[in-house]
Amino acid sequence: MSVGAKKTLVIRNGTLIDGSGQAATRNDAIVVDGNRIRSVGALPPDVTLEDRKNVEVIDAAGQWIMPGLIDAHCHMSYGYPLIKGEGKGKGTTRPEFSTLKSARSAQKVLRSGVTSISVPGGTWFTDVGVRDAIRLGLMEGPRMFVAGRMIVTYGCIEDDEPSWEGTPDHSIGKLCNTADEMVTEVRRQGKHGVNFIKMADSRSGESQMLAQEEIAAVVGEAHRRNLRVGIHSRGAGSTRAAAQAGVDWIIHADLATDRDLDAVAKGGMPIIPTATFLAVVVELGQKVGAEQVQLDINRMKRHFDLLCELMHKARKLGIKLLVGTDTGNNAFTRHGELHAKELEIFVKYGGYSPLEAIVAATRDNAYAVGLEGQVGEIAAGKLADVIVLDKDPLADITVLQGGRHLSWVIKDGRIVDLHPGEERLTFLQAAE
Ligand SMILES: [Zn+2]
Repeated sequence: MSVGAKKTLVIRNGTLIDGSGQAATRNDAIVVDGNRIRSVGALPPDVTLEDRKNVEVIDAAGQWIMPGLIDAHCHMSYGYPLIKGEGKGKGTTRPEFSTLKSARSAQKVLRSGVTSISVPGGTWFTDVGVRDAIRLGLMEGPRMFVAGRMIVTYGCIEDDEPSWEGTPDHSIGKLCNTADEMVTEVRRQGKHGVNFIKMADSRSGESQMLAQEEIAAVVGEAHRRNLRVGIHSRGAGSTRAAAQAGVDWIIHADLATDRDLDAVAKGGMPIIPTATFLAVVVELGQKVGAEQVQLDINRMKRHFDLLCELMHKARKLGIKLLVGTDTGNNAFTRHGELHAKELEIFVKYGGYSPLEAIVAATRDNAYAVGLEGQVGEIAAGKLADVIVLDKDPLADITVLQGGRHLSWVIKDGRIVDLHPGEERLTFLQAAE
C-alpha cells in the first residue's frame, strides 16, 4: 500500500460498542476513508468489498469492536523502566536518552490498544518531541496531549531537593514561588509547544501549598494562550481553590470534603481520580513487602479507599470522572500493561457498569486530549481510532488489559502492526 493512496478500510460483522453509551449492537460495516470514519451501518453502494486494490476488509465476525482507549494520565519521560547504571530519580540526566526511551514506550502503549494519551508532566520537552515525531509520521505511537514540567512552590510534590538546589533541569518539577514566576513559566512552556500546563500541590494533600490567586493567574495566562490547565490536588483546600480558579481538570481530589466537591460540581470540571497506581502499590506491597515497594502502603490504601468513595459521590453530584492510570510514574507501572486497569476499578469499586466505564475511557476521556467530540466514538465523521477484541469487554472488563485480547488496533485509519518484533525475528531467521 503506497503512502497517499490509502485504501478504504471496511470493518465487517462483529458486535459494536460505539463509545456513546448506547447498548452494544450488531455491526454491519464501518467504513474508514483517510483518518476519519465515513459511515457506520449498511455498506455504502459505492464500496465494493471485492475491489481489493482499493478496499481493505477486516472481518470481525465473533469479535467486539470499540473506540481505541484513551489514558488521561500517563507519563512517558520519567526514566522508567529503569536501566541498570542510570541515575535514580524521576528523570534520567540525559534528555537524548530519555527521548528515545519515551519513543519506545509510546509504541508499547499504542500496541496495547491505547490510541491517545494525556501526559501531565515530564522531563525537559521530551514529550513535545515524541508527540511531534508521532504526529509527523516518523514513528508509530498514540496521539499525545502533553504538559511540561509541573509548576510547583517550595514544599509541593516534586520539590525534592533542599532549597539551595531547587529543581534541577532534569527534574519534573519547576519551582515558581510567586504568581509572576508562574506566569513566566506558562509563557516559556507555551513557547516550547506544550498543550497544557500541569500544576501540582502537596504530595498527599495534608496542607495546601498553592494559593487560589496563583492558580487563577496560571489559568488566566494559559487560557489566553489556548493552553489547558490540570492540577495534582489531593487536598481539600487545593481542590476547592483549583475549582474556583477554573482549572480544566483536577487529578485525584481524594481528601476533598463534600463542600469542596460542591465547588467542583459548580465549576463543571472533571476529576481524574487515578486509582490504578495506588491499587498496584497496595497489591504489590502485599506480595513483596512494603520495604521493597518503598512507598507507604497504608497511606496508599487510605488514598485508594477515598478515591473509591469519591467515585460514588461524583455520580451524585454530577461531576464527570475521567480514566487515568499514572502509568510510567514508577518502575512497576509499565507502559502497555495498566491502561485499562482503572476501568476495572471503576466497575469493581466505583459503581460503574462496564459500558459506563468504557464510555468514560473513550468518549469522555477525549476531553483530556483536547479532542472532545472528535475521537472516542465510532460514528460518521469521527477520527478513526478503533480496536477489535476477541473477548467481550462488557462481560469482563479486564479483557481490555495489556492488549492480550486485541485482534486489531486502528489509529487514524491505519492498521497498527501489533507484533513487529516477531516480524523482525522471522527476518533474522530468514537471513541466517
Ligand atoms: Zn502522575
